[in-house]
Amino acid sequence: HGTYLIAQNDEGLFLIDQHAAHERVNYEFYYEKFGQPEEASQELLLPITLEFTRAEADKLKDRLHWFERVGVYLEHFGGQTFRVCAYPYWFPKGEEQRVIEEMAEWVLSERKIDLSKLREQASTLCSCKASIKANQRLTDAEANMLLQRLAACRQPYTCPHGRPIVEIGRASCRE
Ligand code: ZN
Ligand code: ZN
Repeated sequence: HGTYLIAQNDEGLFLIDQHAAHERVNYEFYYEKFGQPEEASQELLLPITLEFTRAEADKLKDRLHWFERVGVYLEHFGGQTFRVCAYPYWFPKGEEQRVIEEMAEWVLSERKIDLSKLREQASTLCSCKASIKANQRLTDAEANMLLQRLAACRQPYTCPHGRPIVEIGRASCRE
């Protein structure tokens, strides 16, 4: 149903959640990228504007420097309006605004922000948005490529949200 990949080797049968697998692969890519985002930011010809409530806007004004740490240049544009002037070119295409909005939700919801948590959070947001969805069928070649890339990951068993990627069905009798 375009959700799981089924694979087999000497160890047994594997059911792989394709969205979670792709998320893991993308997460490790983005986590590396967010390590030095400054070099990657591109200025926008048409800045994105974001609206917040008054309370959120007040809080956000004091937290704008956190966005810079992940390569997003956000400025207060007056009242409850903010403007995104630049973000890294490798943000998931077509999802840039959603990623920045969700990043802002996270920045507003945290009592205390630290850079390593922010980097993880930003990587998780980008990886989810950049990944194939359930119900999207892969060709055999695409599925194989995904499994190879997953096998090369540092942590191939859970997605960045902590959900399992692989279900293992072991052969019970191996005599
Ligand atoms: Zn996801
Ligand atoms: Zn996930």
